[in-house]
Amino acid sequence: MTFEALGLHPAILKAINESGYKDPTAVQAQAIPAAIEGRDLMVSSQTGSGKTAAFMIPSLHLLASAVPVDAGKTANQTAQAARARGERPRFRPAQPRVLVLTPTRELALQVTNATEKYGSHLRSIRAVAILGGMPYPKQMQLLSRNPEILVATPGRLIDHMESGKIDFSELQVLVLDEADRMLDMGFVEDIERIVAATPETRQTMLFSATLDGMVGKIAARITKNAQVIQITGATARHENIQQKVHFVDDLSHKNRMLDHLLRDESIDQAVIFTATKRDADTLADRLTIAGFAAAALHGDMHQGARNRTLDSMRRGQVKVLVATDVAARGIDVPTITHVINYDLPKFPEDYVHRIGRTGRAGRNGVAVSLVNHQENMNVKRIERFTKQSIPVDVIAGLEPKRSAAPARPGTGSGWKPGDGRGRAKPGQRSFSKPAGGAPRRESGYGGNRDGANTGGARRSYGDR
Ligand code: AMP
Repeated sequence: MTFEALGLHPAILKAINESGYKDPTAVQAQAIPAAIEGRDLMVSSQTGSGKTAAFMIPSLHLLASAVPVDAGKTANQTAQAARARGERPRFRPAQPRVLVLTPTRELALQVTNATEKYGSHLRSIRAVAILGGMPYPKQMQLLSRNPEILVATPGRLIDHMESGKIDFSELQVLVLDEADRMLDMGFVEDIERIVAATPETRQTMLFSATLDGMVGKIAARITKNAQVIQITGATARHENIQQKVHFVDDLSHKNRMLDHLLRDESIDQAVIFTATKRDADTLADRLTIAGFAAAALHGDMHQGARNRTLDSMRRGQVKVLVATDVAARGIDVPTITHVINYDLPKFPEDYVHRIGRTGRAGRNGVAVSLVNHQENMNVKRIERFTKQSIPVDVIAGLEPKRSAAPARPGTGSGWKPGDGRGRAKPGQRSFSKPAGGAPRRESGYGGNRDGANTGGARRSYGDR
């Protein structure tokens, strides 16, 4: 299968060639032809599989092939024309033709950038990101250009819908990207409201790590006669990522191990995951003092600061990014060679997303988890989820004093990241637990994996 064989608009083919892509990935080879035919899609595929192009290329193809509804006239131009006729300009809401919903701002920006790349030779087609954390006047200005493509996080999009700034009557394509994650984050009602505001005639494409449970039910409800595509290839199984576990005795041992790992010369760039935002800040500070080009990335940072940090990572100025789960979604920096789980993730699915930050675009990667002996059960849960065992590795000179505690069946519920982490002895240098106050967790998904909204506190990502 080649991109040429897919019958794509020449301007899109040109952009794909310039992106350096030789052949479609597995998900693209299946999704693009079906989407071009106008089919609804329910796709299970992991991040890193090339899913963004799988929905954006056919969406651009549709826009490029159809006669524009508004002949490219922006609301500003319409207003100017009205003024020229001596009339008072009427406010016109944006009428996008493609809407992509994403769980996080980072992913929304990632999708917008990818859209600009694949649409770089389709100059009349504009894509705009509508996300929380951005000033409203700036967004109003972007919407006034009447973009064909909106990429949005649900909360902020609803704000604009409610104030009459967006009208979905011309919408042709609705994409839900990382739908499972949107449900986990409590966006189920928002998604249903947005879907209800779009025309019945729309084409719907839903992408998710899994189609099981609640996400499968919602997918079935909002799609019509959808083609189901399940990608279980090497990329989905992360076979290009070497995974390993290092057991640690206590926090001091963990920190020595981390320092050792970061001095590995095969590291180009690394992402370290911590359980809390505070730990991310503290660890990034400590690593900076230790001489690493490190930076933190978490949900308490302003969007501008997050973007600057990601840009520095892309430019290679930041070598070590210390991140929490939510902020790290959507990071697509192909030069990330290593992922280090300083704390294990809260849920096994997050492990898969975390390690997917490396080994991108067909490269190899290394994913190391630093695990306290009592957390062995959590490693087992990850192994059950990924259906892969993770080998235990030992570094000469940094061997743990104890071997791992055997996993006890039936005790796996309710564990939290960082639980069982060894404490530094008085006077011992501890850089991950600052004095005073309980560490803040990256809040949001409070344990209900079916995505049912368990309370008002669920949307605490500053999405609005
Ligand atoms: P995604 O799963 O959409 O986040 O994409 C993962 C990475 O794969 C991104 O860096 C894309 O630029 C890259 N990519 C997407 N499609 C292809 C392709 N057909 N060939 C090579 N790389 C690709």
